[in-house]
Amino acid sequence: MRFLILLLACYLVYRYVKGKAKPEIAKESAATETFQDPVCGVYVSEADAVVGNLQGKRYHFCSLGCLQQFEKIQHKR
Ligand SMILES: [Zn+2]
Repeated sequence: MRFLILLLACYLVYRYVKGKAKPEIAKESAATETFQDPVCGVYVSEADAVVGNLQGKRYHFCSLGCLQQFEKIQHKR
């Protein structure tokens, strides 16, 4: 009988750990969201991207060079 209680306790801990781990994985995938560079079309993650604020909009670039290129295109219009 004691063994069964221990087994049940282990199972509950396992369920608790498994249930707790799931939202963390979801958070991670949200953090690695990718954005497309409007200049060269390369996909960059939020952490690696060079973020530019242009006319109240947020743009994500792979490099500062692409940001400057984008600003040039915007000024031409
Ligand atoms: Zn780029």
